[in-house]
Parts: sequence; structure tokens; C-alpha cells
Amino acid sequence: MAIDFQLTEPQKALQAGARAFAAEVLRKVAPTIAPIARPEDRFYATRPFYAAMAEAGYIKALLPASIGGTALGTLDFALASEELAAADVNVPSALLGTGLGLHAVLHHGTEAQKQRFLPDFIEDGSRLAALAFTEVTGGANYDHPDPSVGVQTFARREGDEWVINGAKHYTTNGTGWDGKGAHLYSVICRTDPALPPQESLAVIMVPGSAPGIEIVGLLDTVGHRATVSPRIHFHNVRVPAANLVGQPGDGIAMLEGAFSWTAALIGAACVGVMRAAFDIALKFARSDKRSGTVPVIEHQNVGFMLADIKMRIEAARYLTWKACHQLDLTQGRSRELAIITKVHCSELCVQAVYDCMRVVGVDAYTDLYPLGGLMQDALCFPLYDGGNMGVRRRQLHALLRSPDYDAMASAEARG
Ligand SMILES: Cc1cc2nc3c(=O)[nH]c(=O)nc-3n(C[C@H](O)[C@H](O)[C@H](O)COP(=O)(O)OP(=O)(O)OC[C@H]3O[C@@H](n4cnc5c(N)ncnc54)[C@H](O)[C@@H]3O)c2cc1C
Repeated sequence: MAIDFQLTEPQKALQAGARAFAAEVLRKVAPTIAPIARPEDRFYATRPFYAAMAEAGYIKALLPASIGGTALGTLDFALASEELAAADVNVPSALLGTGLGLHAVLHHGTEAQKQRFLPDFIEDGSRLAALAFTEVTGGANYDHPDPSVGVQTFARREGDEWVINGAKHYTTNGTGWDGKGAHLYSVICRTDPALPPQESLAVIMVPGSAPGIEIVGLLDTVGHRATVSPRIHFHNVRVPAANLVGQPGDGIAMLEGAFSWTAALIGAACVGVMRAAFDIALKFARSDKRSGTVPVIEHQNVGFMLADIKMRIEAARYLTWKACHQLDLTQGRSRELAIITKVHCSELCVQAVYDCMRVVGVDAYTDLYPLGGLMQDALCFPLYDGGNMGVRRRQLHALLRSPDYDAMASAEARG
């Protein structure tokens, strides 16, 4: 069988369902949050949209069949993600935040841990999980072998408990829906200050109800205006020893796995945002004469620019599909294409949205068009989820330097 990019009937249904959900529900997010001043209030205002997303099955799609989920593969998730992100990036980011928060248990947890932590999200899909990874002092050097730097959130073992102390920020979903905290956190910490992260970095599951979790403030972001980025302190937070996922030292592999999944899906979100900007620019170019005699698409500069943008959108979509397919084929082991997708599509997205603004011209810089907001959202993609400079290119650099690097492995679906 040759390579076949045609979607199966279930995939077409999934895509059509996501497109309809985006048009009916997520289109209303932007006008809902626009007049709200405080970042946390913008996030809280998205709760009904998130609940509708859960109702439509997107939270169950994260979860295994053994507890009542539908365990959507990465490629299928990408098909839906492109449609959702073309309408709004905020509510899908909260979904991704919950997926990140549950990733370690989903992929590395024992059956007992899955049974303890996951059914709550079937029972009430509007519950939020969060990954508390980024330290207030930076995230890029979390795996630095010098134990005196990197992650400075520590878990101390006392009897049958872990006692966690540290400070995190950018913990998407971390406020919960009311400022009292997420339902569940996966906290990235070290179990021994004297040991390097390769031996001590750990993922510990912390229920939001645990005493000692304090939301101390919020960062207001340039785009993703209703994605919440709180600062959270953990003061002597006690959880059972059994909340450790895997072993100390496994944290690096777990983070790499979680951030490969998001990397591939962010490719789909970038395609969605590029599509939204392209639709605006194309409609403008085909209809507006700007006091001239013909619609501006008749001018070669405009037509060529639109052609260039469309080329990038198509190329980004199929790279994303391939990266997602590769993750699914290798159960997440082969990470190169996912990282390439995150870097390439995110930087393409910023350029494509800017080029759409250049097609529309000066009005793109006003509230006459939503392109400025799309640019604000696009600027996030290269910077977050492991910045392209501080994390993602370094990951690729490390792969290229490894003695057993095989340059054709990704293309040939090996690895
Ligand atoms: C909307 C949004 C949502 C987010 N959600 C979450 C979340 O849910 N959970 C979470 O934990 N975090 C989250 N983050 C944070 C995000 O994941 C960051 O990308 C990550 O913490 C690392 O940031 P950084 O790559 O800029 O690294 P930083 O450590 O902040 O480094 C900044 C810059 O310093 C330079 N640099 C630093 N170290 C090196 C080095 N060793 N080599 C070369 N250059 C270096 C690079 O130029 C880098 O860009 C979110 C951020 C945003 C904006």
C-alpha cells in the first residue's frame, strides 16, 4: 500500500465534529473574554467552553478505555486540534494543560495510580490537571547535571510521605476555576539536592486539596489571553509516598515524553492559527479594491504573498501529520520529528500571520481585523512548551550529536 494521506471515515467524522464545535462554541470565546481586564477572570470565563469541550468528548479522548476513556491517538488528536485552534487557542490550551498534567500517570503510572488519579476526570470532565514544571528561575536547564542548579523544587521523604517545597510559574490551569487550585498537579521536583537530575528528577502527583499550595500571583501574557499563568508556591505539601510516578531520575524521560506529545500537537495548533489568518487575508484580497479599480488579489505582490502563505500551511500540516504518526507508531519513543514540527511550524506561523497582515495592510494593525490578536497568539508558539532557543534546538542538537544518530530513521518510520 502506497502512502495514503486520505482520512478514514472515523477521522473525517472527528474532523467535521471538531470543525462544527469550533464554529458553534469556540468562536464565542474571543468576544466573551475581550472586555475582561484581569487575566484570571478571562480564564474563569472560559469554564463553560471547557465544560462543553469535555461534554463533546475531548477530555475522555485523553484517557484510556480501561477507565472509560476513548484514548485518541496523537494523529487523530491533531486532526481535531487544527480545527479547534483555528477558532480559539485558549480553551484548547487548557485541554493540552490537563493532558500535560496527566501525561506521566497515563504513560508511566502503575495500574493502581491510574485507578486513583484518572477516574475523577471521567466523572467530571471540567476538572483541571496541571503540570508544575517551570521554575521561577527558568526552565531550560532542568536537566543540567550540576545538582546546585536547575530544578530547585525538592521533595523530602518523611516516613510514608513526600514533603514538597518550591516555587513554580506558568502552571497552565494551576489556579483551577476559582483561584483555589487545579484538581490535580504533577509536580516536577528533585528528591535529593545532592544528586543530579539524572538520578533525582521526579514527577509527584499532588491533589489540589493538599494543604500548603498557594497561588501567589499571575503573569499576564501577550497572547493566549485566557490561558492562565499562575505563580504557585508549595510549602511543606505532604502527599503519600505512592504518589511518586516511576522512580527518582525518571523525571527527565517523562518530561521528554510529555513535551514530545505537546510538540507534535502544537504543530496542528500553528496550522489552525495560520489558517485563520489566511482566511482573513484571502477574503480581504478577493473583495477589497482599496480605492483602486480591481480587488487587490489582482496585484501580483498580493497574489504571490498569498500563494507563499498557502504553501507554508500545507507543508506544516503534513509535517505535523507525519510527526504525530511517527509518535503513534513508536509509542512516543521517536521524538525527532515532533521537535522539528514544534520549531518549524511555530516559526512559520509567526511569519505567516505577519505576511497576512502585510497583505491586508495598515488596517491589519487595528481592531478592524482580528489579525493583531492572532499575531499575539502566534508569538507564544516559538516561546512556550520548551522555547525553540532554550530547549527545542538544544534537544535536536543533542540528537544530532549522539553516536548512534540515524538521519533516515524518522523518514523511514524507525526509531
Ligand atoms: C502560555 C504558556 C503556557 C505555559 N504552560 C506551562 C505549563 O503548563 N507548565 C509549565 O511548567 N510551564 C509552562 N509554560 C512555560 C514554558 O514551558 C517554557 O517554555 C519553559 O518553561 C522553558 O522556557 P524557556 O525555553 O524560555 O527557558 P528559560 O529557562 O526561560 O530560558 C530563557 C532563554 O535563555 C536562553 N538559555 C537558557 N538556558 C540556556 C542553555 N542552557 N543553552 C542555551 N540557551 C539557554 C535561551 O535563549 C532561552 O530562550 C508556559 C508558558 C506559556 C507562555
